Amino acid sequence: MVPIVRLRLNDRIVLKKPHPCGGSEFRILRVGSDVRIVCQTCGRDMTVNRIKLEKAIRQVLPAGETADETKKGSEQTHE
Ligand SMILES: [Zn+2]
Repeated sequence: MVPIVRLRLNDRIVLKKPHPCGGSEFRILRVGSDVRIVCQTCGRDMTVNRIKLEKAIRQVLPAGETADETKKGSEQTHE
């Protein structure tokens, strides 16, 4: 049995496997059967199967710990 991980928008998560850029902290942009997360280090976003993501999470940091990140998740990818 895997414990249920409660994922909510704008929560920040630390994954067991770091992103190729070296960062391991991500923020949740969308939750569904797939979860969209954005790397806090390089700003890239990706969509991950929820089951796989839950298994890859090391730690969940509830939203609101940093006050200036409450911008409705309307972040723009610049490419
Ligand atoms: Zn990254």
